[in-house]
Amino acid sequence: MTVTSMPCLHLIGYSGGLEAGGQKSAGFMHEVGIASEILRASHAEAARRPGARLVAVTVRIGVLAGVDADALRFAWDVMSEQAEYDPVTLEIQIMPRRNRCQQCGCEFVTEMYSEPCPECSSDNSTLLSGDEMQLASVEVEE
Ligand SMILES: [Zn+2]
Repeated sequence: MTVTSMPCLHLIGYSGGLEAGGQKSAGFMHEVGIASEILRASHAEAARRPGARLVAVTVRIGVLAGVDADALRFAWDVMSEQAEYDPVTLEIQIMPRRNRCQQCGCEFVTEMYSEPCPECSSDNSTLLSGDEMQLASVEVEE
């Protein structure tokens, strides 16, 4: 048995989290929808290798995506069990918020909504990433 890591850059196209008006729904159901989308996408990725068994999944979730990692792990376990899949390890990488300075073009990690640029102190920066939900890789055993 060899374990192969298959990188993928699959954005988790989660449509169930937005209610009318574009507001994200709060609560556990949000994570259930995301877990179900990750499950679907990761099994689809693994299926590209006939006969391979999915053993682990790595997802990247931005700090601004509004996802509770513990709730997602719990939802993942419940969903996997319901679907009668073999247990698959879910690895969650929390991605920081990154801004790009509009003044000098530098990119920096920030925790605040509008932190001045570390290079030129400009307040004029835009969000680069930090709200993403992405299936980064799957590991299969064959
Ligand atoms: Zn700057």
